[in-house]
Amino acid sequence: MNMSFNKIIGQKVVINSLKNCIRNNKVSHAYIFEGPEGIGKKTIASLLASALTCERKGTDPCGVCKSCIQNKSGNHPDVKFLHGETGSIGVDMIRDLQKDMYIKPYSADKKIYIISEADKMTLQAQNSLLKVLEEPPAYGMFILTTINASLLLKTILSRSVVLRFAVHPYEEIEEFLKNEYPGLGEEVSVIARLSGGIIGRAKDVAESQEFRTLRRDIFNRVYKLLSPNKAVLIDAADYFIEYKQSNRLLLDFLLSWFRDVLIIKESHDKKKVINIDMIDNIYEFALNVTSYSICKIIEIIMDTKKKIDMNVNYALAIETMFIRSWEEIHGNGGRSTV
Ligand SMILES: [Zn+2]
Repeated sequence: MNMSFNKIIGQKVVINSLKNCIRNNKVSHAYIFEGPEGIGKKTIASLLASALTCERKGTDPCGVCKSCIQNKSGNHPDVKFLHGETGSIGVDMIRDLQKDMYIKPYSADKKIYIISEADKMTLQAQNSLLKVLEEPPAYGMFILTTINASLLLKTILSRSVVLRFAVHPYEEIEEFLKNEYPGLGEEVSVIARLSGGIIGRAKDVAESQEFRTLRRDIFNRVYKLLSPNKAVLIDAADYFIEYKQSNRLLLDFLLSWFRDVLIIKESHDKKKVINIDMIDNIYEFALNVTSYSICKIIEIIMDTKKKIDMNVNYALAIETMFIRSWEEIHGNGGRSTV
């Protein structure tokens, strides 16, 4: 685990405000960290808990005291986790937490509960948590993380300090990738843009062995959709079906491609293009397809993403997506070509 706030990329506003609170002894009983998945909410929650239980009592955990070592391995007796990632958090779990919270800390001056994906708490669970938040013991503290704070009860929000995590500027992500993965070369800027400003996503992509191959293969196939031969769409669909486990990444590649085509068509601004290494093919695509059709295709892809999240028949969803997109490209959108 990362043991210093200084090693966090970005989130300076959040970190400075937390450090100020630690320094001035004004740490709140409850925090809600809100922001997209992969942005660093849990990392910062763990760091804050480590700093507050560290024996040296600085604004950063020292990393070497007994408490810090326990925190590093996730075994501090006074820092506990409830994970919403594994399913809904029921009222029984919160009742157990409630009982436990009123037992004094074992070794630190604080007892800290980190509830990740706190919006997974059932309504009953949230109401139960509210009771502890209304009368927390002096040593008690909660850090809740969520992608959307409005999914929590207003009464919980009003008793907590809500800190919003901002996405990173591309330049920061590029810097980070250059330092962490020196072997990436020119793909750094592509990954930074694909990450949508989320460090966790950038790391996932950078570490993915398959990333380069998938990206090259999929763009070859998408470019070929310009061909009037329907075999190209079958080939593209088959590829998606073969690499079903990477469907999110593939669909993101696809979206980034059509987004780039649209940018070139509408603004000719190369600086905004994500897949800059493919610029020649993107230009050719832009010359041959109308903006209207590109917008339609983007809609079709977004719609397919939603359907896949809802567990529809994957192969069917993908095939339909390519047939409809190919028909848009060739000016047959909405009409039968049989
Ligand atoms: Zn320490």
